[in-house]
Amino acid sequence: MSVNELISFVRETFNEPEAFIPLHDPRFIGNEKKYLNDCIDSNFVSSVGEYVGKFEKACADYTGAKYAVAAMNGTAALHIALMLSDVERDDEILTQPLTFIATANAIAYTGAHPVFIDVDKETMGLSPSALQTWLNENAEMRNANAYNKKTNRRLAAVVPMHTFGHPVKMNELMAVCEQWNIPCIEDAAESLGSYYHGQHTGILGKFGILSFNGNKIVTCGGGGMILTNDEALAKKAKHITTQAKVPHAWEFVHDHIGYNYRLTNISAALGCAQMESMPFFIEEKRKLAAKYKSFFENSEFTFFSEPADCQSNYWLNVILVKDLATRNEVLKTTNEKGVMTRPAWELMNRLPMFKECECAPIPNAEWLADRIVNIPSSVIVPGYRKNITGR
Ligand SMILES: *Cc1c(COP(=O)(O)O)cnc(C)c1O
Repeated sequence: MSVNELISFVRETFNEPEAFIPLHDPRFIGNEKKYLNDCIDSNFVSSVGEYVGKFEKACADYTGAKYAVAAMNGTAALHIALMLSDVERDDEILTQPLTFIATANAIAYTGAHPVFIDVDKETMGLSPSALQTWLNENAEMRNANAYNKKTNRRLAAVVPMHTFGHPVKMNELMAVCEQWNIPCIEDAAESLGSYYHGQHTGILGKFGILSFNGNKIVTCGGGGMILTNDEALAKKAKHITTQAKVPHAWEFVHDHIGYNYRLTNISAALGCAQMESMPFFIEEKRKLAAKYKSFFENSEFTFFSEPADCQSNYWLNVILVKDLATRNEVLKTTNEKGVMTRPAWELMNRLPMFKECECAPIPNAEWLADRIVNIPSSVIVPGYRKNITGR
């Protein structure tokens, strides 16, 4: 199959013979304008208003998390989840090198150091067996806490990321976390609508976080969510993301260093309307993935399918190509012809800020980084805002 056949197929599928086809743009097909007008008409556009609570409830109901606490974006949500897992300066956090920068940045905000562990080829997410191997070789228990024997730093958290919406092997991962008594915090920013063995991603660890950035499956313009089943932690999360203000009718007293990480009512209103479309979004995205899958069968490109016993949201569809040279050729030709494609993120351990961090052998992450190409994945709504590509 030539790259031109791929381009033709994408253009035909999106019914877009000429115009630019983005990788993933939002669809506003429900109550978005109604709820936004409601905010303006009621004057509640900022930090107070009913949509924040409604949006939290919608996310808790959808994911099955007992509690959901809104935040201004996914990065902020992850920062708070790490802090509330008692991550401290100079701890070490085990995560994957194949992820978006937000994962590593949130770790850095706490003053902790990321340690990069390989991913599995079947999930593109953190590998439980690679984690176990690294821990066996490098860690020891001291007073019920795992420590890095060499650096004497505490191993304070494990942060898997469900890459492009495909769930990590959570049962195996949680078993390793439990054995070493390390809390697991799921970066589920990309996996709203993805299920692992029937359970939504982001509710299996101590915390999970979601993102509602403009390119995610559901958007608030910008937004995030902290998921947890622990009531006390949820209360703390609400408190600390809202400047840690002690509730009072007029006094301004704060009892902790807090963050102005709250989500605005306007953003939450958009999120509420978008969540109502989730069943449709998931259905359409899975249909598109099935179409791609059959198109790429018996071709030189391998379509990346959901892992066993999982149901993925197929946030960004992935093809794996033969090698780095092919990848670069595919990226160049498609983008030049107005069909947006993208490589995986540069691996975290190769970036200037993180290149001194400890990094286990990562052959799978390196193999995948050379071969991943994301292809257009927006929800297809016939006739939707033709010729508008506001992103
Ligand atoms: C999108 C994303 C986030 C959060 O991003 P925000 O833009 O801050 O909402 C975090 N981690 C991953 C892996 C992401 O893709």
